[in-house]
Amino acid sequence: MPFVDFAELKTRVSIEDAVSLLGLTLKPHGLQKRGGCPTCKAGGERALVVTPSKGLFYCFAQKTGGDQIALVAHIKACTLSEAASFLGGVVTSKITIPSTVPPAPANKKPGFDPEAYAARLDPAHASLASIGISTETLRMFHSGFASSGSNRGRLALPLHDRDGHLLGYCGRSVRNESPLLVFPNGINPHEFIFNAHRVIAGELYLVRDPIDVLKAFESGVENVVSFLTEITPQQIEMLAALMDSKKCETVALF
Ligand SMILES: [Zn+2]
Repeated sequence: MPFVDFAELKTRVSIEDAVSLLGLTLKPHGLQKRGGCPTCKAGGERALVVTPSKGLFYCFAQKTGGDQIALVAHIKACTLSEAASFLGGVVTSKITIPSTVPPAPANKKPGFDPEAYAARLDPAHASLASIGISTETLRMFHSGFASSGSNRGRLALPLHDRDGHLLGYCGRSVRNESPLLVFPNGINPHEFIFNAHRVIAGELYLVRDPIDVLKAFESGVENVVSFLTEITPQQIEMLAALMDSKKCETVALF
């Protein structure tokens, strides 16, 4: 039985090698490369984002991402084993691909005690399996399943002000029930742009669901935000002010 090691293959073949082997035409943009997704044929020329420094890609059209092997699997619509073969690996049946753990945020959070709340959340709860976000990413976002309080039975997602102070948690349904999001008393969801405190200069991505922020983040696209309600003129103004202050040139909506 031939032995193959995905980790070894990944040290030999970078995600940029995979991009050339696949014949993808991506344009450099800051530290990332992006272009249309030939598989999804949706989302325009900014749908597929590769982050070479992290060895990750994300497709906004299908909301999927991962490493170079996952990229090949996505573009060629094949299995991970077939993708590894394509990249020059010899494949056996037992393969696991470790997920990348993004760096922890350095923001300070006075007042409300986020550690105490986060400590009661369970990022590895079985109910969260269906949302397709790794435990590591949920942990990094200080997010997890809430088994008590106003977010009981939901994924608790942190709400920060623009300076990065954590003000509370909203609850996202894990079964796409209505209401999709619930908010604690005293929190006005119209006043928040989810993940806005992490925004930096460059292109900004705006997605419709805070869960998609975590998905994109997990796959290397960190400059991504979402609103938490239907979009009002006030929120457009907030977004414009955010982009102005952080020097974001354009926003791509998915
Ligand atoms: Zn795609």
